[in-house]
Amino acid sequence: MYSRTQNENGTYNTRCLYCFLTVASAVETKEDLEQHESQHVCPERALSELLAAKTAIEAQAKRN
Ligand SMILES: [Zn+2]
Repeated sequence: MYSRTQNENGTYNTRCLYCFLTVASAVETKEDLEQHESQHVCPERALSELLAAKTAIEAQAKRN
C-alpha cells in the first residue's frame, strides 16, 4: 500500500504506508511510480506477513 501525492509542478511522490519510507519523489509519470513501488522491498511488510503466517500456523496446530 502506498500513499501518492502530487507536487505543485505536477510530479509525484509515493510513500510506503507500512514503513513510512518515501519510495520515490519528483517522479514524472504514474508508470514510473508503479516501477518504484514494485521495487520497494519493505521490511515492515515482510515482518507483518511473517507474523500473519505464524499466527495462522499456530491456529491450525491448535485445531488438530
Ligand atoms: Zn515499506
